[in-house]
Amino acid sequence: MQFHPTALMLPGAPHFLISEAVRGEGARLHDATGHSPVAGLAGGDLAPRDQVSRALARTMAAQGVDHVWLDLRPVGEQRLQSQFPTIVGRCRELGLEPLTGSIPVAPAAHYWMGGIGTDLHAATSVAGLYAVGEVASTGVHGANRLASNSLMECLVFARRLAQHLARSLTGGAMATTAPRLATGHLTAAGRAAEHPLLQALQQGLRQLCWNAAGVERRGDLMIKALAQLRQQRQDLEHWPQLRQLSQLEPGTGLAVERDANAGLRAQVDLQHRLVLAELLIEAALFRCESRGGHHRTDAPASQPFWQRHTLQQIGRAIATGAVT
Ligand SMILES: Cc1cc2nc3c(=O)[nH]c(=O)nc-3n(C[C@H](O)[C@H](O)[C@H](O)COP(=O)(O)OP(=O)(O)OC[C@H]3O[C@@H](n4cnc5c(N)ncnc54)[C@H](O)[C@@H]3O)c2cc1C
Repeated sequence: MQFHPTALMLPGAPHFLISEAVRGEGARLHDATGHSPVAGLAGGDLAPRDQVSRALARTMAAQGVDHVWLDLRPVGEQRLQSQFPTIVGRCRELGLEPLTGSIPVAPAAHYWMGGIGTDLHAATSVAGLYAVGEVASTGVHGANRLASNSLMECLVFARRLAQHLARSLTGGAMATTAPRLATGHLTAAGRAAEHPLLQALQQGLRQLCWNAAGVERRGDLMIKALAQLRQQRQDLEHWPQLRQLSQLEPGTGLAVERDANAGLRAQVDLQHRLVLAELLIEAALFRCESRGGHHRTDAPASQPFWQRHTLQQIGRAIATGAVT
């Protein structure tokens, strides 16, 4: 996971990114007492983004706060207005005035390196299943994503997939079969009680991931978090509606009462998040090194051995594969 050091951190507001270019133009990070959290880094405010993210995360943890401050004023009013009008505009929309005071910022998860392995036509190893965008691992990014090429990846691979499908579907439309409805239907029973619980579980999961799988990670904490996640996922499998869904035969469907829809989606969403969090922590635990994304405090250096892909596949032990 790549972290960006400076997302806006304002309660209730979107965590939009404050471009690192502002620090290139003179903006300075500081804590509530005016000290620089990056003073100890070679390069200070201009150190690499993973190092700055770590320095900020450490300062925030040590001081028990959820943000530090970014002072944009050294950039100068004119350059701020002409070079960063979007940042200035969005801050103002949220009631902040970056020309007269510092703005609150914190590191944020920025990009998930890796993903579902695909070939150069976006095809996965499952026939008929394609993956495009951040969810895919096409091989274009290497161990760490360079700035601003992920949107291009979406465009390039969506186009490649479209061309591939146009070629492979020539001569006939894709056969579609309506799913056969299984007996039974999902009702909204229990929805009212589940809703706050689901919200609490989502929030708990977010917190657990930030603590165990944030900018800095440690093997023993990840082992504990993984056990917790697996338990939660297993517990969720016993929820009646999810159990009903999991027992569906391929090609069959289930009637869902209108009122049950939102609750069901929330349950499935949580289930997906738990699976992803488990995969993420499993991979981070397996790879005992740090390579510019998240940082393992118990394995701080990059190791030549780990110039390999991490492979996770259902029914197989996690393993490494050659970089091709
Ligand atoms: C703050 C920030 C700034 C960034 N800035 C840049 C930048 O400047 N340049 C750059 O190249 N990259 C940037 N990136 C990375 C880039 O934005 C992402 O890699 C890119 O948007 C991924 O696009 P996507 O379509 O693959 O995924 P997403 O944009 O995440 O889209 C996935 C969609 O699927 C939907 N979805 C999820 N689950 C389900 C479900 N079960 N059913 C139906 N729908 C579902 C989601 O709601 C979402 O709309 C930035 C990322 C962040 C977080």
